Amino acid sequence: MKLVLLFFYLLVTAIRFGLDWINIRHRQQGRKPLPDIFSGQVDEERLDRSDAYALAGDRVGFVEDIVGVILTLVFLFGGLLPWYDRLIIGFSDNFIVRGLLFFGLLALVQMIIGLPFSLYKNFVLEEKFGFNRMSFKLWCSDLLKSLLIGAVLFCLLVGGVLWLVQLAPQSWWLWVWGFWAIISLFLLYLSPYLIEPLFFKFTPLEKEDLEAEVRDLLEKAGAHAGKVLQVDASRRSGHSNAYFTGIGKVKRVVLFDTLIEQLDNKELLAVLAHELGHWRCGHLRQQLIKSQVVALFSCWLAFTVLNNQILPGWLGLEQLSFAGQVLVLGWLGSLVGFFWTPLSSWWSRRHERQADQFAINMVGSGEELASGLVKLARENLSNLFPHPWYAVFYYSHPPLVERVLWLQRGRVKIKFFAD
Ligand SMILES: [Zn+2]
Repeated sequence: MKLVLLFFYLLVTAIRFGLDWINIRHRQQGRKPLPDIFSGQVDEERLDRSDAYALAGDRVGFVEDIVGVILTLVFLFGGLLPWYDRLIIGFSDNFIVRGLLFFGLLALVQMIIGLPFSLYKNFVLEEKFGFNRMSFKLWCSDLLKSLLIGAVLFCLLVGGVLWLVQLAPQSWWLWVWGFWAIISLFLLYLSPYLIEPLFFKFTPLEKEDLEAEVRDLLEKAGAHAGKVLQVDASRRSGHSNAYFTGIGKVKRVVLFDTLIEQLDNKELLAVLAHELGHWRCGHLRQQLIKSQVVALFSCWLAFTVLNNQILPGWLGLEQLSFAGQVLVLGWLGSLVGFFWTPLSSWWSRRHERQADQFAINMVGSGEELASGLVKLARENLSNLFPHPWYAVFYYSHPPLVERVLWLQRGRVKIKFFAD
């Protein structure tokens, strides 16, 4: 069975590398003519820069991937896992302390291995292409804050789960699921107020006319604007975005200051209309339900597999602690989940289409959103020529050229507004 698992892992790895490779080849094999809307925005020089940016990202991604594959092989198949498991067992007799140590130390090691990559990406790669606006000091303070928040959340979540497992050995899967569901809902609603302000500064919109227009749009979409804010994302990166959060009908709209810099008001409103579309079409709710169903199934499956003690045998081991088995199961889950990727990407692209249609209905045409997206692609040096298979597999949004053409053809469909 160990060999079957190894083969399965290598197969997934080969498919991943294969997809990356055809995507790089496709980009290098030449450019197709771009639709008119790109002219004046994206010229040959921009495309060269996009290619160079994508290639630089591919290179560091490749090294990171290889390191990950080697570590996984050594840890799971090279005898490191049983050694580590025994080491942790030697530290403490307490089930919860052991579990926290087991996952905590692993997470710490993983973070340390990731540090050079993070440094390289921010201060070499993003710097070279003019995206990085972060000082080393800010990077360090971000790292410290996320470590602290991560540690608190980790102890709360993992400690809570282990406690529930100990408390209800015959039905923990249901309790664990409920616990996670409550905590993740809590975080979803609270993080804009508790966690994000630790990293970003939220201020009222500086462009006064924009706020009135945003509020108009929200009313028209049936949402009541709580706060309309801009966030100082430009302190860290030149990449841009917009989002909105909130409970029920009261919405908090957040625009990145970089987005306000890059787009004009009409384009900004179209982007916002798209975001409102996700809310009005119930995508956020669907996403939440989907993840909770998956979580419930995963908890039940984990419970069944762990109760039957089949995992140690699969890896050719005599015994493995509870935490060790959970780790192996999580790894197996990520392998199976890989084959699920194209389906969830397709589902996400469908939602993006619906939100785009909603934006067309709100704004009256797709032109504004299309031109906004073209500008964002220009500013973010997006890859305009992904390999179709790669896009089918991974892309959560329709590839830009296709999306822009679709938006320009788009017509207002009034039935969309019916409740
Ligand atoms: Zn969207």
